[in-house]
Amino acid sequence: MGLFAQTKAWLRRTYPVPYPVRVYCLSKDSPKVRGCAGLFVTYGPEKSFIYIAEANEGHMAETLIEEWSHALRHAMPLDVDYEGEAHDEHFWVTYGRITNAWRKRFFA
Ligand SMILES: [Zn+2]
Repeated sequence: MGLFAQTKAWLRRTYPVPYPVRVYCLSKDSPKVRGCAGLFVTYGPEKSFIYIAEANEGHMAETLIEEWSHALRHAMPLDVDYEGEAHDEHFWVTYGRITNAWRKRFFA
């Protein structure tokens, strides 16, 4: 199993999101991810998706951690400013903590 698949399994196990999130890898030319490395999209509690643009495994794994952090942030009972800056302080704390744990788990 490559780093991306391992990271995905580790995230699901270690940092479960309290609602279903489907993860899709798309060609970097796909209109859904054009111009970005990844995207978290939610249409309500039962329909949330993470799209990852194809790149090297390490880059895709890091992008998945960012999008997973958005999914976790979305679960907090505090509004996310999706029209403005979705990268608020709660997002960064979550993302930083998971990134540190991921580095320890896969690169220490
Ligand atoms: Zn982001």
